[in-house]
Amino acid sequence: MAELALNIKQLNQHYGKHAVLTDINLSVEQGEYIGLVGINGAGKTTLIKSVLDFISTKTGEIEIFGQSHRETSSRQSLSFLPEKFLPPYYLTGKDFLSYMAELNQVELEQADIEEIFKVLDLELSALKKSVRQYSKGMAQKLGLASCFLSQRPMLLFDEPMSGLDPKARAYLKRHLNSLKETGKTLFFSTHLLADVESICDRIVILHNGEICFNGSPYECCEQFHAESLEYAYLKCIGVDD
Ligand code: ADP
Repeated sequence: MAELALNIKQLNQHYGKHAVLTDINLSVEQGEYIGLVGINGAGKTTLIKSVLDFISTKTGEIEIFGQSHRETSSRQSLSFLPEKFLPPYYLTGKDFLSYMAELNQVELEQADIEEIFKVLDLELSALKKSVRQYSKGMAQKLGLASCFLSQRPMLLFDEPMSGLDPKARAYLKRHLNSLKETGKTLFFSTHLLADVESICDRIVILHNGEICFNGSPYECCEQFHAESLEYAYLKCIGVDD
């Protein structure tokens, strides 16, 4: 059996006395698409930062493709885009992509850049522009482009749709759906249940520091006797009127 892309076991996290994550167990198979959902402050970013070892884990274990997340090399399997992504403002789009390609140790081909810019509906003129001239959506698309160009097997995104207009969102979803055929693994946090429904194999709902649902969007609706994922989600977190 192929090793898991991500395996989180008995993870607990707290900031001072404030417990944020309690006994989180979550595994992601290679090729799976998982949407992590929860109200603001539920702990989604904390979970993602834990995977990246940006926050040290006092208890619990995390493995990325079978390797402890504490090993720097484990992160070579993933490409991460943070929430509210802002590239260094003094770089041009091309400089940023070149810099990231160097860090990711991949060759940057002009044809690949052109293809991904088209896919994300980003004008090629952005390559020459300084990032300080970018709109929020353009900066987000540049970050996404660099993640896709990294050729890493797992994509780890914190609210990837934020700042994207409906057209760009549709384009991104279409691209993610097409990448699924290549065996890519996707783990992302979002508030957009429609996106989870249209691209994810599983929805993981985080509430009060615990995973209160982990299954397919269909199973979520079944379990909570709801006609829509939105209603199922509300019932799951105890808001059903
Ligand atoms: P989400 O991503 O679901 O909105 P976060 O993981 O950002 O949630 O935050 C979870 C909780 O932890 C919130 O109550 C937040 O205020 C708190 N928190 C997040 N980061 C820190 C920090 N660096 N120091 C103290 N508390 C934090």
